[in-house]
Amino acid sequence: MEFKFFRFLKFPVIEAPYCHIALAPTIFNFFHAQFLALTSGNWHIWGFLTLGFLWLFLIFTIGQGICSWVCFYGGIDEAFSKILPKPLIKLKISKKWRDFPLAFLVFLLVISIFHGAAIFCSWFCPLKMTPSFGDNLILPRAMQIFFFVFIFGLFLILLPILTKKRTFCGFICPFGALVCICGNVSPYRVTIDKEKCTLCKKCAEICPVLAIDGEELVEKYKISSYCNKCGKCIDACPAQAIGVSILGKKEKGLLARNIFIFIALLLTGVISGNFVPQAILGLIEGFRWFR
Ligand code: SF4
Ligand code: SF4
Repeated sequence: MEFKFFRFLKFPVIEAPYCHIALAPTIFNFFHAQFLALTSGNWHIWGFLTLGFLWLFLIFTIGQGICSWVCFYGGIDEAFSKILPKPLIKLKISKKWRDFPLAFLVFLLVISIFHGAAIFCSWFCPLKMTPSFGDNLILPRAMQIFFFVFIFGLFLILLPILTKKRTFCGFICPFGALVCICGNVSPYRVTIDKEKCTLCKKCAEICPVLAIDGEELVEKYKISSYCNKCGKCIDACPAQAIGVSILGKKEKGLLARNIFIFIALLLTGVISGNFVPQAILGLIEGFRWFR
């Protein structure tokens, strides 16, 4: 928010902060850059201390939990989804459309590697952390602004308000699609105990990213890999049939859930520690200058 809306107070042109959504559709470009750095001895842009590696580390620890517990962009559609007490529209997505984010990610990966740049950022990102558009030609710029406004208005504001779902995170975000694949190595899983489940489907109703299919629940008791590990279904289940497991083993009591929440909050603190103090100082300085 500070970068997007308040920088005009002081800094007309500044470098965009690091964006993990940009990492997902350019992950091959990232590895290629790391390879070039390694082979050319350009050590300062290589290694485990880069922010890219920090995000990869997060993917392999708390997995999809990043989207609920760490990602600061996720707070936007989450906030709008809380405005109404009940959904005005019940969102149902057919199975083939549920995999749209994965198809979109593959499209972006291929096009970004050939283009050598983050196509998602210049054409589709409603958060557009880049300070500039692709070029100064009127038609491409108009199209970029159209996509930016359309995706922002529809998926980050309108649909979350009407459906109470996180529609940008669940159906557009390429980082969400990447963690949906890579996050499967995370030791943490949200699972349903079919012995306890009474099939009331409250979990399917409350899930903000449609990771539980009410129709499939009857036979499979399955939570899809799009699960963001937010824990809302755990709290909503009247039969206490849902819990967090570690490496497939269900822990008794609250152990697994507590360890998961502890790690998630710790990592959130590490990430926030990078941006928040700088943002607060920037805001104070900016407002001082404005006055
Ligand atoms: S909320 Fe609990 S009891 Fe109801 S369907 Fe989901 S897992 Fe089963
Ligand atoms: S509500 Fe449950 S299934 Fe849905 S994202 Fe949250 S933890 Fe996963």
